[in-house]
Amino acid sequence: MWTLRGTCHCGAIRATLRSTQAPEALQVRACQCSFCTRHGAMTASDPAGSATFHMQRAALTRYQFGTRSGTSLICACCGVYAGVILEDRGQTWSALNVRGLAVAELRGRSGEPVVYDGETLQARIARRKVKWTPTEIVWLGVAPEL
Ligand SMILES: [Zn+2]
Repeated sequence: MWTLRGTCHCGAIRATLRSTQAPEALQVRACQCSFCTRHGAMTASDPAGSATFHMQRAALTRYQFGTRSGTSLICACCGVYAGVILEDRGQTWSALNVRGLAVAELRGRSGEPVVYDGETLQARIARRKVKWTPTEIVWLGVAPEL
């Protein structure tokens, strides 16, 4: 297992990807959607691995658009787009924005352009469950909001 770590610019969001693949073998994607291109996002995931986001709830902005099936995690303090999650029936999957999180092992990689336009909602959810990483969200700090 390889463990990749990154944080947003201010450190309020920390992410860990435990991957079954060496960093140099891990696919890095440059989603061509209108959101990812604005951020210059470069994402990585490993369905056979696991991921954890440690976040302060007050430091998180959740953003949804399009089919609203995914939730982009954006730091409310520093503005970094940290990654995207799919939540379904109590389970969570994610793709890390390894550029926003400044994952050292993937620095200098260029993302493989991927286009998901025209995908149905069902196909989108199914693809994410197959390609993204099973994920745990750990809330830091004060008691969770109701
Ligand atoms: Zn931040």
